[in-house]
Amino acid sequence: MDSSRASSSDPLSQHIRLEEIRLLYGGTPFSYTASVVIALIIYSILLDHSASAQNLDIWLTIILSVLFVRSIDSYRFSKRTQQQQLEDGWRIRFYIGTGIAGFCWGLLPWLGYSSEIEYFSFILVCLVGVVAGSLSTLSYRWETLALFLLPASLLLILRLLVEDKNFFTATSFVLLVFIFFSLSAGKKIFNNTQQNIRLRLEADSRERAIELMHQKQALHLQNTPLAIIEFDIDLNVTEWNKAAENIFGYTHTEAIDENIMRLILSRDSSVEAEKLWQRLLNYEAVTGSIIENKTKSKKPIFCEWFVTPLTDKNNGIVGIAAMALDITEKKQNELAIIKSKEEAEKANQAKSDFLSSMSHELRTPLNAILGFTQLLKYEKTLTDKQQSHISEISNAGNLLLELVNQILDLARIEKGHLQLSMEKVALSNCFKEVRAMVSPLVEKNALSLDINIEANGFVIADYTRLKQVMLNLLSNAIKYNVKHGSVCLKALQKEDDIVRISVIDSGKGISPEQLQEIFLPFSRLNTASNIEGTGIGLSISKQLVEMMNGNIGVNSTVNEGSEFWIDLTGNLNVATVTEHKEPVSLSDQTLASPADKKHNILVAEDNPTNQTLIMSQLEALGYTAELVENGQEALNKMVNNDFQLLLTDCNMPLVDGYKLAQTIRERGNHTLPIVALTADAFPEKKAKCLKAGMNDHLTKPVDLQTLKDTLKKYLG
Ligand code: ADP
Repeated sequence: MDSSRASSSDPLSQHIRLEEIRLLYGGTPFSYTASVVIALIIYSILLDHSASAQNLDIWLTIILSVLFVRSIDSYRFSKRTQQQQLEDGWRIRFYIGTGIAGFCWGLLPWLGYSSEIEYFSFILVCLVGVVAGSLSTLSYRWETLALFLLPASLLLILRLLVEDKNFFTATSFVLLVFIFFSLSAGKKIFNNTQQNIRLRLEADSRERAIELMHQKQALHLQNTPLAIIEFDIDLNVTEWNKAAENIFGYTHTEAIDENIMRLILSRDSSVEAEKLWQRLLNYEAVTGSIIENKTKSKKPIFCEWFVTPLTDKNNGIVGIAAMALDITEKKQNELAIIKSKEEAEKANQAKSDFLSSMSHELRTPLNAILGFTQLLKYEKTLTDKQQSHISEISNAGNLLLELVNQILDLARIEKGHLQLSMEKVALSNCFKEVRAMVSPLVEKNALSLDINIEANGFVIADYTRLKQVMLNLLSNAIKYNVKHGSVCLKALQKEDDIVRISVIDSGKGISPEQLQEIFLPFSRLNTASNIEGTGIGLSISKQLVEMMNGNIGVNSTVNEGSEFWIDLTGNLNVATVTEHKEPVSLSDQTLASPADKKHNILVAEDNPTNQTLIMSQLEALGYTAELVENGQEALNKMVNNDFQLLLTDCNMPLVDGYKLAQTIRERGNHTLPIVALTADAFPEKKAKCLKAGMNDHLTKPVDLQTLKDTLKKYLG
């Protein structure tokens, strides 16, 4: 195989080239010395027998000079670096030198010619010997052999032919055959040599690679943070590296031949270990299995295991190779995170529960405050001053109620109990309603209000909640405005299917630092000011808008004003969809219209203040009513009396409102209207009331108008 054909960039070919040139030059000390000795012997023998002693001298001088020059060349080669030895120059010089040497030897029959047949034969034998000898040193390269052999032998043959003796002609023929066989033998030797070189180099490099691999493995085995452990089929440890010592605390000597299960397996993990073992026996490699282990000091640790069975040539399992990573810290961190998450969730739940129960507790006294204040408003005997005080109490009570409602909303959102009903909301309807609601406030604060109630199009939202958000933004724009300032509500198509609703005011504005916290609950920026507020409105608005798949944001400049915007899915370029029907409220003046006295209502209420209030409210609305303190009393009362309607509190001693309704229905009375009166404003409470057999649900504090509407609905 000719390596010169192989790509010179191939490292193996480079190695072969180097090996060849080294072998060629490496053979020179012996072959040159032998050549000098042979040349001197030939010279001494032919000296008295050659045709021209002078020519013989010339030959000797030439051949010794050539050998001298080549020896110097060989010496210089031996001093070169590996990289330099690979240069083409050395190869070419060797080829030229070999060719010249072959030519010099070919000159011997010419310059050392002897007419005496035995001496000429001696020359012939010597040359054949030299040529044969060259086979061993020059056949590393086919070219060098040819370059030496051809001039040496062809000149000899030529000389023989010149002699023109029959004997010599025959010898020439024999010599030609000899040359042919020498060349083909040389070629074979060359091929074998090449093959040997290649095989030897390949074996060398493989050996080196294996050696390197062993070194690396040893390095990894000792320095890896992975415990590398092997054990036999009886579970006795056969391999235990440094990391295994560090992780499990047993030294190599302590661990070897010990049972792996006894050493490092904690009792709690025996089931998992058994499962893992079964998988291994099924020739399955197990990766990433996390097992609780124990150290020498019995400390529990968590390790991640990568395990594979080791098999013999018959595919029988002879042992197990395992790697283990100590993940105790990671595991502890994970557990700590889970625990703190659980704690945070618990705390959040506790906060939500607290907020909802607090709002429930606040509703009961508020019910009394707002209810009695509302009743007092219709008291004709009060002076103007007293009426004004009543108004103040009513305003403060309403603010408190708003706070309670907002807290309740917040708790419901956080608990995930707030249900939205998404629909196409016509903006003009919504704008009209909010305008009606905020107009009195705008007038009171001497502001200008610009709301485009003709706005076309719709947004996808929950109607009530969208209104709640708009009202919150508008009431802020009014509250935090300047005297004679302006408030504007408008809508524009922001993107193909996104509508932006903006509330713009000309108020004091908000500084960039304050903008960061504005949507956080209970963040009141100007707490020092006397503007009433709870600090929760924007936080609820943000959560509501996000629940409606929208975004809320604010752009504000101090002393110029703010723009609060909400982006919702929608389209302004379509005709407005069907109007949303809100229940129409009756005016205050219709409140106390005399009712039909013949309606007899049973009221079940345990709280004395609430008892007085509801009885007074019913009286103000013109109804007659009887009062009981709990469900049991109500049931007793109903045995001998006929009632047209039952108003019942939900939470009462003995028999509560739910049980009361349920019992009435179970006893076969399906016609009596039953209306719950409860301080619990959660929608699920309403569902519970309906499920128990009630017809309706009124939330305390009960507004007189709402009470009247409800009674009218059932009593006609
Ligand atoms: P609040 O009940 O206090 O109005 P919000 O959550 O609605 O609660 O608002 C939080 C705070 O953001 C307000 O206390 C106020 O300081 C500030 N803020 C809200 N809207 C505006 C506005 N349009 N201009 C200036 N400041 C505002």
